[in-house]
Amino acid sequence: MPELPEVETTRLGISPWVLSKKIIDVQIREPRLRWPIPTKIKDHLLNESFLSVKRRAKYLLLETTKGSAIVHLGMSGSLRIIKDSEPPGKHDHFDIIFDDGLALRYRDPRRFGSFLWSNNPLSHPLLNKLGPEPLENLFTGDYLWSKACKRKVSIKQFIMNAQIVVGVGNIYASESLFMAGINPRRQAGRISKLRMEKLVASIKNILLQAIDAGGTTLQDFHTSDGGDGYFKAKLSTYDRKGKPCLSCSTAISMIVIGQRSTFYCKNCQT
Ligand code: ZN
Repeated sequence: MPELPEVETTRLGISPWVLSKKIIDVQIREPRLRWPIPTKIKDHLLNESFLSVKRRAKYLLLETTKGSAIVHLGMSGSLRIIKDSEPPGKHDHFDIIFDDGLALRYRDPRRFGSFLWSNNPLSHPLLNKLGPEPLENLFTGDYLWSKACKRKVSIKQFIMNAQIVVGVGNIYASESLFMAGINPRRQAGRISKLRMEKLVASIKNILLQAIDAGGTTLQDFHTSDGGDGYFKAKLSTYDRKGKPCLSCSTAISMIVIGQRSTFYCKNCQT
């Protein structure tokens, strides 16, 4: 599933190819995504240009003078730059076609993604209750510690709650907690401010590493198929049940927290 680093990598990858070009067509082959693609979206986009490609949580906001197209990659979505003559495959659900012979193509085998329109995307119901971006200055140890006050939920579920902070998916939660030395089961409200500062630094560090890794993979974005797994080579705990901890050699444990597989070192994480 595309996580925040993959979405950010996609944003960086497509931006140079889609900005300031006239949109001459929008071809929708399959409108049945997570929500139906609004029929009016073509009218909104036609003859416009994208002024910027922004990201909020895992939503890409393709901004025009009139409003923004909101794209979410769902479970299996990807965006690619193609020549507009390239025939679509079975799962290529829509294209945004530019006046220079290139197009932005959306592929999504499982169709959990979305392609929506809003005149004011940050107040859209999908976006207006989200917590801060993890890589922005608003996300600090102090912030996380004050939000966690008296909360009994596990720290792992707490940092995966998008109303607390966006974009910390399952893999990145496990990896950040390992880096910070915090047991994923520990109650959020029982973690010191100092340890919360360490956790926030770890979340930022892990996400930036993943974005860097994705950036390297996607240098050839023009022909990339936008597959996942950019970050797999560097994982310390995730999917390493029974394998030796990279720091102390204790076997990595797997438990389930909130229906999600959780990997940690019993020795290093307290
Ligand atoms: Zn260890």
